[in-house]
Amino acid sequence: MSIWGNTDNEVPGGVYLCQVHEHISCGACCGLYNVADPSLEALREVLAYRTRAFALVPREIDPILGFKERVEARESRKRPFADFHHCPFLGLVGMGHSRVGCLLHPLADGNKGIDFRGLSFYGGMACRVYFCPSYYHLSTVHKEIVREAARDWYVYGLVITESKMLSTFFQEVERRLNKPITKGGILDNKKCLEAVREFLELKLHWPFRAETFTGLGNYFFGDQLYSKPPIDYEALGETTSACDIILQELVSDFGSVNELREAENILYGLIDKVVSASFTTSQK
Ligand code: SF4
Ligand code: SF4
Repeated sequence: MSIWGNTDNEVPGGVYLCQVHEHISCGACCGLYNVADPSLEALREVLAYRTRAFALVPREIDPILGFKERVEARESRKRPFADFHHCPFLGLVGMGHSRVGCLLHPLADGNKGIDFRGLSFYGGMACRVYFCPSYYHLSTVHKEIVREAARDWYVYGLVITESKMLSTFFQEVERRLNKPITKGGILDNKKCLEAVREFLELKLHWPFRAETFTGLGNYFFGDQLYSKPPIDYEALGETTSACDIILQELVSDFGSVNELREAENILYGLIDKVVSASFTTSQK
């Protein structure tokens, strides 16, 4: 959880996903998006307030626990996933507070190398050793592409846990290209990069997201407390879509066949963009 200071060699799967660089990091497993208002503006305000307030807190048990109580009293406790803890110690870290991170981490400002994560809900051990399913299920190349392609920490944290959605998209591109994609092949090609970014950002404004599934977050823990609902193709008089995995991962709900087709066309359009931009480049 917001593991910090690790290198690629020290994490499962060999690509460090939690704190990537000055502007890219994730706090999804600390419950970052499990808030009443998960918009970028609202999260920035909340994280910036906590960061400013925590800077004034003496690094001792009682003041740190007092900070937690003040934060929890100030913020809404309404959660899209009621049993998924949102950690009040998430704040902004790095030079210029440029990304999300853990205020209790030994490398965070003012902690002087001391690890205070033992004061959190999960406890220091869980915070240190947890690695989300993307560490195990995403391929090295796909991880590296998402790390570099995401525009900011907000989008990155929303999508990096979506291992099924990401691998299905990239595998379909590879199937059509009839070869594996490479990091350079995507990132150094402006059109490919733009199409991949558009795909990552579908999570922000997917027009077919089911109303019953509130919030933007993803519940990716093994207990499957909040599984994404299957799409009811029968009700539409349709058979399962070829895009079913991605559509379900985006928590889609369709009122008509036209909506389903529209959604498929968005996905096919983005896959086509990556594939044709790759072909154009490789034929030059
Ligand atoms: S969800 Fe995964 S990438 Fe994000 S902070 Fe947790 S372990 Fe790291
Ligand atoms: S203390 Fe909170 S923010 Fe820090 S790693 Fe643990 S759960 Fe995440």
